[in-house]
Amino acid sequence: MTIDWVQVDRQHVWHPFTQEKTAPLPVEIRSAQGAWLYAQDGRRFLDLVSSWWVNLHGHAHPTIAEAIAKQAHTLEQVMFAGFTHQPAVELAYELVQRLPAGLTRVFYSDNGSTAIEVALKIALQYWRNQGQHRKRFAVFDGSYHGDTVGAMSVGQGSQFFTHYQALLFHVDVLPYPLTWDNDPHIEQKEAVALQAFDAYLQRYAHEIAGVLIEPLVQGASGMRMCRPQFLQGLSQRAKAAGVLLLFDEVMTGFGRTGQWFASHTAKVTPDIICLSKGITAGFLPLSVTVCSEQVYQAFLGESFDRAFVHGHSFTANPLGCAAAIASLQVFKAENTLAKLPQIERWHRQYLEPLLHHAKVEQVRVCGTIAAFNVKASETGYASSVGERFKAFFMKHGVLLRPLGNTVYLLPPYCITEEELALGYQVIEKALNDL
Ligand code: PMP
Repeated sequence: MTIDWVQVDRQHVWHPFTQEKTAPLPVEIRSAQGAWLYAQDGRRFLDLVSSWWVNLHGHAHPTIAEAIAKQAHTLEQVMFAGFTHQPAVELAYELVQRLPAGLTRVFYSDNGSTAIEVALKIALQYWRNQGQHRKRFAVFDGSYHGDTVGAMSVGQGSQFFTHYQALLFHVDVLPYPLTWDNDPHIEQKEAVALQAFDAYLQRYAHEIAGVLIEPLVQGASGMRMCRPQFLQGLSQRAKAAGVLLLFDEVMTGFGRTGQWFASHTAKVTPDIICLSKGITAGFLPLSVTVCSEQVYQAFLGESFDRAFVHGHSFTANPLGCAAAIASLQVFKAENTLAKLPQIERWHRQYLEPLLHHAKVEQVRVCGTIAAFNVKASETGYASSVGERFKAFFMKHGVLLRPLGNTVYLLPPYCITEEELALGYQVIEKALNDL
């Protein structure tokens, strides 16, 4: 007897971000290869969102699959307090080689949200350990940093969390100079945002534990992009005021913006950086919060009281670390970074005809990420445009999940020109038919 797993799913499984009463049945994926997902019923889907932005080199990449299997036969897990292991140490070393100079201390956790929680706790305690009780965090309009309580608190710029407001701590939300291609007002928007930051620093500098931002691209609130110039202005001011700068590179890390990290693309080095998603090329949950030596040193002392009291059962899981090391090997073997500018060129080439489409506005590209807004009476996350387009894309064999009225592509790096062209064909059809 063959089991209908989707029916069993309906009885026992609760899916994320889903209204289970009205959502269509979930699609059972049996296998995946390269940029394609293969469903149980024979359909296939071109994964143009890298499965929630985690996949880098394509699905089921053999180098990474083998590295995980090998590690599983040797050491699957060991607690990480009082013990260490080569995969964690080697990965930390390899990450530090690739991160901007000065980010030297790697703290492991399991997902993007926990990487943020860790960063917030480190920033707060960094000041306390020096006798300063700073507890203000500044974030930006439209920022999203995850779904745990601390991450939701600093994500109040995104306005996703109204139900949970009672649980959230106060943060200061500052203006974000959102931009797109050929935006005539960007300099003015940046000047306004930096002036607001100046005024904020002037008033509160000695109370601020940290300033947190998704550099270059705010993901979940709609692939909202800013220019490197803004981040440079922000960083200069934060440094001059002695305020910690925290980068959430959970989405933008590992090549997404064209270089190893958005920090490189923007030429800005934060004090603390959070990485997850692409770290294992989408194979296993893992994250890191990497700090400058100065931040780390503030935790050293004779008493346990100064130590960072945080950890998870699976901190630095060896399988995740092995997957991440293998992913870095794939970057080298396949010369992946050198291929990324080609993806950006393809995006620009295929977006060209859409630039003057009556329904399209705010076209923007940053490295491998491309996005535009569909002109609609309702905008933002609640816009029905997203649901209608998503259903249309799925019907045409393409996995694209608009964020409200923002259609975006964030393909795995193994994508070919033909595959990307197919995605854009379906997008154009959606724009014309819907
Ligand atoms: N930060 C950013 C920028 C993200 O895009 C996300 C996830 N979309 C997170 C944090 C949270 O990561 P996770 O879903 O792994 O908890």
